[in-house]
Formats: sequence, structure tokens, C-alpha cells
Amino acid sequence: MTTNLLIKNASAVMTGLSGHAARLDTTQGGDIRVIGGKIAAIGRLTPDANERVIDATDCVVYPGWVNTHHHLFQSLLKGIPAGINLALLPWLSAVPVPYRRFFDREEALRIAARIGIVELLLSGCTTIADHQYHYYPDIAYNASEAVFSEAEKLGVRFSLLRGGQTHMRIIDKQPPKECTPEPLDLIMRRIDDDVRRFHESGDFSMRRVVSAITTPTWSCKPDELRELARHARGLGIHLHSHLSETYDYVRYCREVYNCTPIDFCEQHEWLGKDVWFAHMVHLSQAEIAKCGATQTGISHCPQSNCRLASGVAPVPEMLEANVPVSLAVDGAASNEAADMANEAHTAWMVHRAAKQNAAAIDAETVIHLGTQGGARVMGWNGIGTLEVGKAADIAIYSLDHPRYFGLHDVAVGPVVSGGSVHCKAVICNGRIVVEDGAIPGFDMEQLKHDAKRLVAMMIANTV
Ligand SMILES: [Zn+2]
Repeated sequence: MTTNLLIKNASAVMTGLSGHAARLDTTQGGDIRVIGGKIAAIGRLTPDANERVIDATDCVVYPGWVNTHHHLFQSLLKGIPAGINLALLPWLSAVPVPYRRFFDREEALRIAARIGIVELLLSGCTTIADHQYHYYPDIAYNASEAVFSEAEKLGVRFSLLRGGQTHMRIIDKQPPKECTPEPLDLIMRRIDDDVRRFHESGDFSMRRVVSAITTPTWSCKPDELRELARHARGLGIHLHSHLSETYDYVRYCREVYNCTPIDFCEQHEWLGKDVWFAHMVHLSQAEIAKCGATQTGISHCPQSNCRLASGVAPVPEMLEANVPVSLAVDGAASNEAADMANEAHTAWMVHRAAKQNAAAIDAETVIHLGTQGGARVMGWNGIGTLEVGKAADIAIYSLDHPRYFGLHDVAVGPVVSGGSVHCKAVICNGRIVVEDGAIPGFDMEQLKHDAKRLVAMMIANTV
């Protein structure tokens, strides 16, 4: 049920737009009216009899964050000691690959997805793209249906990035049967099914499907990559994958294909405005220019890149080259919290440190990347900004916490002060999905209990 809403008296409104338009000029009022899931008016507004007023005194208002790359199943794999100090490749072999065996039952995937979605909602995130690669030929349940169902129950906008692999990476010794590759025709048939059942096209859709083989270089054969691209474009869906997260991707492409990863993707029809890649930490200037020229986008995941010691993506250079840049938390096995406000804080910090330049990126730009940037990267044009006619996906952050006392510029508080935000309300598609820091009607105690039970089971069954 959507209700008409009026958000009144906010201290500041960030629009999600870039440059001078990043901050709403509130001289004409900063109230926001929501009707039928969309923003109907912005200005100095008086309440109608039939609308609910949300008093945003001492609050700042942003568009809901758009998280463009996640692995929700990893929400039960945080801080596993065997992988806590490992870099990407040994970490993959120590955590995500062997722990796939614990997701042989639907319940584990559902609880994990629920944890991740709940965390994101509480951080002000309203759109989630889940790079879900837990598929294998004889899987006993429909993993796509499980994650869509969890997203729908919590009221969040959701894109399934349908991953998978047609062969194992040679470095994975004795992987569990849950890592068995799917033949290409099975992957494509299952993508067809997902598109038929779940995909809604259009700027305001609540559910999307994207074709997202896990990595272009290691998860399938080059010819299959081209087939997947053509298959997705035939269905009218977008393409996504991991790329150049560590230097190993670059070295592999150079040694095996004698080209850069971006050139390899170009040769197999995997560049364009309907394609985005997670990470892209290790890119040459020529690759950055090619991403800008083709409008190939990136999910920037600074916390995961820090955690796995992968490096720092050249985001300032990408912005200079007009590459579409978005923010994402990545899976919780390499980023122990799915918190988009925290991710934005890290993005704001890490480029300044890496460049030794305090002007390398500003908070307004980070907010833009985490909102409209995500919408641009995923081609989801109805979301990501607070403008009349756009989707009512809105986060209202309370600054009633000593963390924010003393701030001279409250508008950027949720990003520059870091830490956990407190949402007075989060609205998705015109519906209140978080209220006073909690999810209405949601049993958090039960989720805590389920998480503890499943973690204890995994620990008891790990040698
Ligand atoms: Zn990832």
C-alpha cells in the first residue's frame, strides 16, 4: 500500500545530481510531496488532508542509495578467520568457494539475503543489485526466486545479476558439488526463465534481471562470452561482471590473450552503455578512455578493495574521462558490513589518501555516484535523484546524535562523519520501508537467532 506523503522541514536536501545542482536550493522550500510512488512536488508545501506528514526537523534528505554490486549469499560469511588476512585469489579459495556447500538448502540463501537487504535498508539504500552466482545443474531450489522473494517482502527495488560459470577455475582444488559449472545452454535457458518470470522493463521497474557471468576471463570460454552478450541483448537486458579487481586479471589477459582486460571484453562484445563491471581497480589510461568512449560503467567497491588489499580504483581519472561510476558494497565475505553510507564515507576518504590530494573527490560527488551514478550505470532512469516525476526512493537521515553535533554543513553529515546512520525514514517506491531506524513489522530478533544458528552450524562443520 502506498500512501501520499509529505516530508517537511528538512535541514537540507541533497538531490543526487552533480555539480551546482547537488544541493537543493531551499529558498523556495525543501518539502517533498510523494503521490503514487513518485515525487509529485518539491517546494514550500502545505499538508493536504489525505497525506501523511513526516517531520524531517534536524534531518537531511537524500535519494535512496543505489547499490550496484553485491553477493547477498555472503551475508552469513563475514569475518571467516581462514580468509580474514588473504588477498582475492586465495580468499576466493578459502571462503566463497568451499562455503558454497552450506547453501545447498534454500533457507541458508534466504536468511543470508534477508540479512544483507535489511542492513542495506537501514543504511538508506533502496535499490540493490545482487550478483548471485550460486547456481549449479542439479540445485534443489530456485535461487533467483528466493532472492527476488526476499527483496519483495522487504519492499526494496531489486536487480538480479545472474552469475554462474561454464567451467571451474583451475586454481580451485576439490570444490564442493555446489560449484559444479552449468553448461552454457542451461545458463541461457535459466536466464530466459528468470527474464520471463521476474524482469520488468521501464524506468520505474521494481525487478530486473541482468546477464552476469561471474568473470569474463575465468568463468567461461571466450566464444561463450560473445554468445552471452548477444543472448542478453536479444532479451533487452544488461550485462555485468567482475573485472580487473586485482593485477592478476591484467597479467592473465596479457599472457593468454596478449591484450588488456578491457580490450578482451571489447573483442567479445562486452563493452557499451548496457555493460558495467565491478571493481576495475587496475586500468590503464587507454582502458579508462575506452570505458568513457563506450560508456561502460563501474561498480566502485572501495571497502572490499581495501579489505582484500586489491588497491584503489582510479575513480578521479574515470570521472575525468566521463566513465559512468557507481558505488557498491560487494559481498559481505570481503566487507563485513553492507552499509552504503559507510561505503560512501570510505569512497570520500580513500581517494584523498591515495592521491595525497584533499580535492581528489568531494562529498557531493560521492553522493551523486551512490545515487544517480548507480541509476546511470544500470540504465534505470526513473530512480537516483530527488526531482519531480522521479521515483519516491528517499532516505531521511536524523542528525540527532552527538556524532553530528557541531557540524557546520549538515547536508554532508551522513557521508563525512562516517559510522552508522540513523534513518528517520526510508521510502521506496512511495512506501515507508524503514521508520525510526527499524523495519515496520520485521522480526529482527528472529533474524539474529537464525543467523547465529546457521553460523554455528557452519563452524561445527568446518574442519
Ligand atoms: Zn563481487
